[in-house]
Order: sequence, then C-alpha cells, then structure tokens
Amino acid sequence: MPEASVFESLTTARRRLQDALKAAGRSQDAAMLLAVSKTKPAAILRQAYLAGQRAFGENYLQEALDKRRELADLEAIEWHFIGALQSNKTRDVAEHFDWVHAVDRDKILRRLSEQRPEEKGPLDLCLQLNVSGEASKAGVTVDALPALVETALTLPRIRLRGLMALPAPSDDADTQRRAFRQVRETLERLQRQYPEAALDTLSMGMSGDLEAAIAEGATVVRLGTAIFGSRPSPQA
Ligand SMILES: *Cc1c(COP(=O)(O)O)cnc(C)c1O
Repeated sequence: MPEASVFESLTTARRRLQDALKAAGRSQDAAMLLAVSKTKPAAILRQAYLAGQRAFGENYLQEALDKRRELADLEAIEWHFIGALQSNKTRDVAEHFDWVHAVDRDKILRRLSEQRPEEKGPLDLCLQLNVSGEASKAGVTVDALPALVETALTLPRIRLRGLMALPAPSDDADTQRRAFRQVRETLERLQRQYPEAALDTLSMGMSGDLEAAIAEGATVVRLGTAIFGSRPSPQA
C-alpha cells in the first residue's frame, strides 16, 4: 500500500472512531486506536508513525521483534502483543513489549511477571475472556476468570488493566453488541470487586465491529484491515 493511502486510511479510521464515540455519547478521548500491523512491513508502520500513530499491535513474536529492531529510532512507539502466547515466548514479550492483550492462563501470568525486567515498569496486561457462543477455545471462561484475576493482582511485575475479547465475527449489530456487553459487564463486576485495581481497559472491537464495541464501552479498538488493507490469509 503506498504511503499516501496509509495516511488516508488512518485519517478515516480516526474519524470513524470519533464518530462512534460521539454516537455513544462518550468523550473523544475515551478510546484509543491500536494499529494492528501483523504481516505488514516495517516501512508501512513507519508511515503510520509519521502520520501520528504510536501504538502498534502484533501477533507473531519473531516478526514483531524484527520490526521493533528496524523501528528502534522511533520515540515513544508503543508495542502491544495481541496474539496467542505460548510459555516459551513469554521472556521476549516481557522484555520487549509494553502491553499484552490475550493472556488466559496462570502459567503465562507468572512467567511474564518473573521475566519482566526490573528496570521497566510493570507490564500492562489484559485477560482474554471467552465470550459465550465463541467457537475458539482461546480465552478464559467467566467461571474460571476470578481465580486468574486473583493471581494477576498478586504478581508484582504485571499490572492487570482489564479484559480483551475476540468474539466470533458477525454481520449483525445486535449479535456484536451482545458479545461486547458481556465483556463490559464482566469488567464492571471486577471493578466493583477490586476497587483498588487499575481495571480501566476493555480491548475489543476490530475493523468489522468497531461501532458495536465502542457502544459497549471499548477503551482500545484493534484495527488492522481498516488501516493497512487486507492481509494474506494465514494458510497462504
Ligand atoms: C488481526 C487482529 C485484529 C485486527 O483485525 P482486523 O479485522 O484486521 O481489524 C485485532 N485483534 C486481534 C487479536 C487480531 O489478531
């Protein structure tokens, strides 16, 4: 994608987010745009950075580390790991990322905390919630969530910030909203239960369902296609 079009699609995506926030009666800074840049080359991320984008989401560790190295000159760039995380990858994530979005296991939480370097602040983290009706096995169920939250809140080098969700894609706005509402209500219960914790984040909404996610309180929307265009299919 030529650079002008990254600039344009970012502008369009920002406008779309602003419109959705306005329609939901929320303030214009109530949600941030995470640019999901998996499969896109570092040069394209640099164009997005030059257009003002600071937060980038990556799914594949090696690819992300390579791009991070190539873009090491960019100040205040923020790296979010949003992919499935295996335990043999936690060290690199703990050392090189600012946020992790999709944690759903005790062992991963403990390793991230142990491996987070002392000189960095605590690693900001969301637990992935498996919303009802979702075919994917990823994410913690509502029933298993309390135990994982208890663990997360005791670990010193991670900072639990909230919940992330990846509902099954749907074209129906009501179906989209139902899934996101479940995530919001779950976070609200946790906020009441742990008023001292910094539980301020709902990472939900992608290119196809941003409006529904914003209407249900998303504070981070993860946009890939809407900013960078389509990706090669994973099977390719
Ligand atoms: C790829 C991906 C996105 C972005 O999806 P788009 O539909 O391209 O906006 C968001 N979140 C996660 C976890 C992803 O893997």
